[in-house]
Amino acid sequence: MILSTTAKRAAGPKAGKPKRRRKPDPILAWKRRLERTRPGLAAYVLEQLRGRYGEPVWEPRWDPTSELILTILTQNSADTNAEKAFQELRRAYPGDGPPVAHRPGPGWGGVGLPDGVTPDWLRVEVAPLDELVEVIRPGGLPNAKAKGIQAALRTIRERRGDHRLDFLAEMPALEARAWLTSIPGIGVKTASVLLLFAFGTPLMPVDRHVERVSRRIGLLPAKATADQAHEVFLALLEPDQMHEAHVNLIQHGRRICHARNPQHDICPVRERCRFVDPKAP
Ligand code: SF4
Repeated sequence: MILSTTAKRAAGPKAGKPKRRRKPDPILAWKRRLERTRPGLAAYVLEQLRGRYGEPVWEPRWDPTSELILTILTQNSADTNAEKAFQELRRAYPGDGPPVAHRPGPGWGGVGLPDGVTPDWLRVEVAPLDELVEVIRPGGLPNAKAKGIQAALRTIRERRGDHRLDFLAEMPALEARAWLTSIPGIGVKTASVLLLFAFGTPLMPVDRHVERVSRRIGLLPAKATADQAHEVFLALLEPDQMHEAHVNLIQHGRRICHARNPQHDICPVRERCRFVDPKAP
C-alpha cells in the first residue's frame, strides 16, 4: 500500500524516512559534563590563581597592527626574541609617526620595547624577501615569518586600503576573529591574542602554557585540539573572565606548572587537579 504524504504524517515518523539524530555539539557536551561532574571548576581555578598572581588589569598595549606583527614574530619563539626582531623592523623600516613604547603586562614573557617609531608597514610589505628575512632573523624562523608578515600586510591593505586594523574593535568578537583568520598564516591563537590585547575583545587565546595547565587540571578534554580548546574556553568562561584567565594561566604555566617538574607542592589549584589526583573533584 502506498501512503499519501498526509497519511504518512498522520502515521508518525515510522511511516516516513527514519529521523536522523543530530550529533551533539562536543563543546556543549563537554561544558555540561563538567557542570555535572565537577561543578564550579573554572571559577575555582580563576579564584585560586587570582589569590596567587592577582587580578590583571587590561590596558591597550599599542596599535593593533604592531600587536599583530609582534604576535606573528612570537610564533614558536621566545617573546624576548620576538622583541629583538621587532626592534630590528623599527630600525630597518622606520615610519614617520611619534615614538611609542610597548609596555607589556603580566603574562608577556619579554621585557618590553623601548620608545621607538612604528615601522612603516608599506616598506615592510614590499621589502625584498631575503632582506626582510635577514632583518627579522633574531626572532627565529625568519623565512616563514617574513613570508607570513608580508602576506598578512598585503591582504590587509588590499582589503582595507591601508594597514590599520582599528575597525576590528567595532565588530562582534567571532566576526572579527573570522576576518583575521581568513588571512593566510593567521590562526585562531594569533587572531585572539591581537583582539584581546589590542581591544579587550572577549576571546581566549590558548598558547602552550594555557593548554598544558588547563589539560592537566581537567578543564579541557584530553583529546581536544588546540583550535577546539579556544572554543571550549569560550563556552566555559564569561566574557569578562577571558583576559584574567589567559594571563593567569600563562603565569601559572611559567612559574609553577612547568612542562617538566611542575611544583605540585606549592600549587594553589592542587586540590582540584586531575594530574595529581585522577579523582579530584
Ligand atoms: S597540581 Fe601540579 S599539575 Fe596540577 S596545576 Fe598544579 S602544578 Fe600543575
